[in-house]
Amino acid sequence: MISVSEAHAALLDLCATLEIEDVPLSQAANRVLAQDVHARRDQPPFSASAMDGYAVKAEEVELHAMFQVVGEAAAGHRYDAPLKPGQAVRIFTGAPLPVGANFVVIQEDVSRKKDLITIVNQPGPSDNIRPRAGDFCSGQCLTAPRILRPADVALLAAMNIPNIPVRRRPVVALISTGDELVMPGETPGPDQIIASNTFGLKAMLESFGADARILPIAQDNIASLRTAFSLTAGADLIVTIGGASVGDHDLVARVAADLGMERAFYKVAMRPGKPLMAGRLQGTPMVGLPGNPVSAMVCGHVFLQPMIRQMCGLPAQLCQISMARLSHPTKGNGPRQHYMRATVSNGEITVADNQDSALLTVLSAANALLILPPHEPAHDAGDTVQYLPL
Ligand code: AMP
Ligand code: MG
Repeated sequence: MISVSEAHAALLDLCATLEIEDVPLSQAANRVLAQDVHARRDQPPFSASAMDGYAVKAEEVELHAMFQVVGEAAAGHRYDAPLKPGQAVRIFTGAPLPVGANFVVIQEDVSRKKDLITIVNQPGPSDNIRPRAGDFCSGQCLTAPRILRPADVALLAAMNIPNIPVRRRPVVALISTGDELVMPGETPGPDQIIASNTFGLKAMLESFGADARILPIAQDNIASLRTAFSLTAGADLIVTIGGASVGDHDLVARVAADLGMERAFYKVAMRPGKPLMAGRLQGTPMVGLPGNPVSAMVCGHVFLQPMIRQMCGLPAQLCQISMARLSHPTKGNGPRQHYMRATVSNGEITVADNQDSALLTVLSAANALLILPPHEPAHDAGDTVQYLPL
């Protein structure tokens, strides 16, 4: 049995960073930027008004000063003559500033009679101008790698970059195994349950940036498992669920070995999730997750996320670890790293009463996994502990 960090390292050894593809800007959200990109223009490309008002010369601005309004500049339509002394141009937000103007008096500070304006309130200290390139300059860089958030997409659009170099999304083939399983919406037989892990893991993998494909459920026999594996062509990662223990009906390891799987490890010192298996099947990384729903989801969180991140060219840190104070004492831990379903609220963490690894309601109600490292001593209420946010 190996430690969680040894398993983590072995899993990352199985994964290569995927190739780069170009996608249209409209499809770039949540993808991983793969190469630095550079702005193709200044933003704004000209000095622009930040307010609705009157463009004038700053040195002429004082209370009761009067100006003649000689024209108008709106967004998309500049006033195309140089501003002379004593003149003002009616200007709107986003419009280019006329040549010779270097101050915008906001309309609230002005009284207008026909083409004459008078400054009736002392203007504030701001010139109400957005300087040329005040946001970014041509050539400015958005650095890779990064997950493109909505704000990044807006920035790329403003930089006038229509196609974005991103990592290809890893394709993950998900195989549930078990004679007892049927798909949601089907009518289960009296001894059957619904395959839940497949859907939870698909949702999780897609939140990590993968493209997860649910294959038909494999029965607990060699022929059915072989058929399922034969449908994984083109996947960057194969994930099986269940059938990984040592029971008579746990055939995943046997069938994978028959198909030439090179095993990296089997069994990790953790709870839940001990019977975790990994290796390379005909060149493709493969992870065999335990079938218990909470075990499968916890292992997905702890191990599949760094694998997907590495394939996407992101730093594969284990997981985002946070700290909280215990609201109650905990017992000392045994030799396996324990990931306990828990709830964090206002910096305080409370472990769920029932830690059975089959209870999806408990996992669904949790927002954290408290991490108890191997042989961790007992804790008092108020001690600071580590957890993974869910
Ligand atoms: P196994 O690892 O195949 O022995 O499965 C352990 C437990 O998890 C059994 O109670 C299975 O019925 C259950 N199980 C296995 N796969 C799934 C799945 N895809 N969805 C829900 N439960 C599952
Ligand atoms: Mg099974």
